[in-house]
Amino acid sequence: MVEATQKGPDKGSPIIHLSAVGKHFGNHQVLADINLRVHHSEVVCLIGPSGSGKSTLLRSMAFLEEYDEGEIHIEGRLLGWEIDDRGRRKHAGRTRLNQARRNLGIVFQQFNLWPHMTALGNVTEALVRVRGIKRNEAEKRAMEVLDKVGLAEKAKEYPARLSGGQQQRVAIARALAMEPKIILFDEPTSALDPELVGEVLAVMKQLALEGMTMVVVTHEMGFAAQVADTVVFLDQGSIVTRGTPNEVFRDTQHPRLRQFLQNYL
Ligand code: ADP
Ligand code: MG
Repeated sequence: MVEATQKGPDKGSPIIHLSAVGKHFGNHQVLADINLRVHHSEVVCLIGPSGSGKSTLLRSMAFLEEYDEGEIHIEGRLLGWEIDDRGRRKHAGRTRLNQARRNLGIVFQQFNLWPHMTALGNVTEALVRVRGIKRNEAEKRAMEVLDKVGLAEKAKEYPARLSGGQQQRVAIARALAMEPKIILFDEPTSALDPELVGEVLAVMKQLALEGMTMVVVTHEMGFAAQVADTVVFLDQGSIVTRGTPNEVFRDTQHPRLRQFLQNYL
């Protein structure tokens, strides 16, 4: 039950396609033979124990980690590398990497907002610096995305005056403002007090409903069960099993997955 069980809304060519991807840190192999397709409007949740390679996998999709085996294609274009006839890897140029990254938004566990700028400033500055958009235009777009994450009235607040949940929603707005084709989330709610998790998940759920393509590393099994099209279980750097939420959460007979899910009952 590998690729055939994936049930993205669009079965055309994948936005992200990983084939036989591997990654080492020194002699330590942290990813091995990862095969994964993410289709337009699909929500893929990556679950697995701490240290299983979830972050490394997600970061590889943005070439924030340099995968050293296999290939990652974003919309059909090889990410990060040029590979010659003999299989030797050479870095693709900055320009090509930046082109690929234009398609991607990334939201991390730590919100990484600029503390000396307001919520509006944080979103606007990214647009001005990265996209070269004129400031007044950028502010207009920033207000739209802040409104979308329910923070229009907090636009003039500094991060220190916002809750963790609000700060993370600003970080999501900042990613959205760049109009990415896909957003990668790495445990976006893990740094939050429990009572603030829901407001962030609600924003993510809304994005999913609107057809945003998302890859989400999460320990929120309720969210994964409700929102994911595909749940991927990673253990020790390999995809152990994957399927629809029903397949993964209810019907699985896989011992390692069962053992992992015990922690969430
Ligand atoms: P997860 O996100 O599932 O907790 P990670 O992808 O962070 O797992 O880590 C996978 C493995 O890679 C772990 O054994 C971790 O110690 C190792 N690792 C992660 N980043 C580095 C790094 N920069 N240098 C060396 N080892 C790393
Ligand atoms: Mg991690």
